[in-house]
This record gives sequence, structure tokens and C-alpha cells, in this order.
Amino acid sequence: MEKRYLFTPGPTPVPPQVLAAGAEPIVHHRGADFREIYASVLGRLKDVFRTEADVLLFTASGSGAMESAAANLCETGDRVAVVSHGSFGERWVDICEQHGLDVHAIRYEWGERPDPDEVGAAVRESGAGVVFCQQSDTSTGVVSDVRALKEAVGDATLVVDAVSSLGAVPLETDEWRIDVVVSGSQKALMAPPGLAMVSVPAHVLERTKPSRSFYFDWRRNKKAQDALDAAFTPAVSIIRSLDVALGLLLEDGLDAAFARHVRLGRAARAGAKAMGLELFSPDDDTAAVVTAIRAPDGVDADELLAHLRDRHGVTLAPGQQHLKGKIFRIGHIGWVDVFDIASALAAVELSLTELGADIERGTAVPAAFEAFESPVAA
Ligand SMILES: *Cc1c(COP(=O)(O)O)cnc(C)c1O
Repeated sequence: MEKRYLFTPGPTPVPPQVLAAGAEPIVHHRGADFREIYASVLGRLKDVFRTEADVLLFTASGSGAMESAAANLCETGDRVAVVSHGSFGERWVDICEQHGLDVHAIRYEWGERPDPDEVGAAVRESGAGVVFCQQSDTSTGVVSDVRALKEAVGDATLVVDAVSSLGAVPLETDEWRIDVVVSGSQKALMAPPGLAMVSVPAHVLERTKPSRSFYFDWRRNKKAQDALDAAFTPAVSIIRSLDVALGLLLEDGLDAAFARHVRLGRAARAGAKAMGLELFSPDDDTAAVVTAIRAPDGVDADELLAHLRDRHGVTLAPGQQHLKGKIFRIGHIGWVDVFDIASALAAVELSLTELGADIERGTAVPAAFEAFESPVAA
């Protein structure tokens, strides 16, 4: 009977009361029992998205909500722009291309942060009316300044993928005039995988095109949600769990969550550096979602991850696409505290030693705790 540890940036660990809520008896989705939960979760989502807009809730993974944006905002052949600086940016490109859109990709090296002025100029030049981007590209640990991106693209509709960042780093949907925000249940929202959300304000709904998707049709779903009568059978158990998780998040307050994520990021970076490892993700407080670390010379990152899992029951995340085998990632979103970071670092230290890497021992955990203690400016 081995204990397992999940330190990935999605899915993330889920608090016991959230899991317990999902084990409640199934209720019928068209009855009063569910309507109460549905109303509560939809209200809480607005609070977490910091918006007055409707937040449409789908039974899907985060990519479903991403795809819904392409299916509802654009007609075949429309020119769109994608800001891409990691594997999730490339996912926007793939989704848009599969929908027959004319994609203008504004690409950055993986690990670079997009420059808002450059993006603004590229969007104007492209003539795109809809722009897709990430707030956090989980593949690299880079968190973009989506507020500046919105200012830079002006009247173009900005669609922000905040699947790994909502609830972890500030996102003021209404105040920053972000048109559409997409998220998912299994990252910083501390719920099991299976739900996706998208905020769609009235001014955006007016601009929608006839949906190419039946299931993800924003108008159909909005109409149903307005009547608390879901368009299709939702994952009632996961919705129960999400409702409890959002309640926990809002009870502590989003600002407390944002400050905790900054401090967890500091702890992870300090620990990795103390071991003598090199960071791939930015070495600053913006990197509050996931810490990406280069494998030391002579060690394949995937081999390290397999060793961590098989020998020690610890799951970290691999590098994606061309970063596979080169980096590994420690997630610090959602229900994570500094002891989780300490455990992840200790396990990495032990495993690297077992794999024969030349690293500094005994320094990572103290460095992590020290960095965690440094105060965060409000
Ligand atoms: C996890 C994630 C998604 C969605 O992935 P799913 O597996 O479809 O839930 C999208 N964007 C980012 C940045 C993510 O981290």
C-alpha cells in the first residue's frame, strides 16, 4: 500500500470535502435538488471570474470550452490571430485550423513572455477580429500580462485561456475588459477534472456567429442556464464538488489565494536553485502557477519522472513536445501548500541522487521554506 503524491499542474489535488461532495447520491438534473446547486455554482463562478457576465458551464475538459470559442465567435474562413508561446498556444492554432479559420499565429519562443505592443501591431496588421491567447501557458510556466494584451488589441475580441491560472493569479475579467475567459475545473479551482467554463458577456454574445457546434452552442447553453435547466445532462457529481471547492476558495478570498501562489512559486524556485538546478520558467513572481526546471546534465527528465513515480509514488509533469525529456514541472496551483513543495523538492533531490546526478543535497527544503516566508506586497 503505497502513498501517491500528485504535484502536477492539472489535475491537481482535491480537498477531502470536495471529494466527499462528489460522492453524494446522484440527483436528477431537472429537479429542484440540482437547481439549487446549479444556481450556487453559477453565482460562485461569476465571483471567481470577477465578472457580471454569464459563465457558461460545460461538461467537458478545458479544451471543450476553448473549442466553443472558435465555434461560436468565428465563421469558416474568418481571419483570427493566436498568440502562441507554448503548447497551449499551439492548441489554439490547431483548434482554429480544424474549424477552417484563417489563422495568423504570433509566435514566441517557448518560455518567452509575449510583448503587448508587438502583439497589438501584429493583430492590427493581420486584420483579425478575434485574438486567442493564454494567461498561463502551463507548458512553460509563463504568465502573460493579459490586461496589457487587451489594451493592445483594442476592439478585437480577446479570448483568454485561463484554464491553469484562474484562481491562482489575478484576472479581473470585467475591469480589464477581457471579452472571453475560458477555464476548467481541475487546476486552481481544486475540483476533479470534467468541467469547463467560459464567460460570455452580452456584448460578445451579440457578435457570435451561428455556432458550428451543437453541444457547445453558446446561445443554446445560455438560454438553458438562464432557466437553471441545463441543455444536456451535466456531470452533476462534479458540479457538486466544484460548488464546494469554489466556496472554499471564496471563503478564504481570492487575494489570499493569489498571495499563496506567489509564495509557493518562490519556494519552488528557491528550492530548485539551491539544489543547483536551472529554471526554465521565469525566475520571478509572475511564475506563480507552475515551476519548470531543466533536468541536470546527463539526466533525461522523463527518466527522472518515471523514477519518481515508480520508486517514490510522486507524480510531476513532463516537458511537452520539444521540451520532452529536457524539463520537468512542479505544479503549485489549487490545494497546495508549502509542505507539498517541500515534498516534491525532497523527492526530486533524492531521485536525482539515486540517478547519479551531481546536485547539492540538504539545501532545497530549507531554501524553499525561507523563500515561502518572505512577505508578498499587496
Ligand atoms: C490544462 C489546460 C488546458 C485544457 O486542457 P484539458 O486537458 O482539455 O482540460 C488548456 N489550457 C491550458 C493553459 C491548460 O493548462
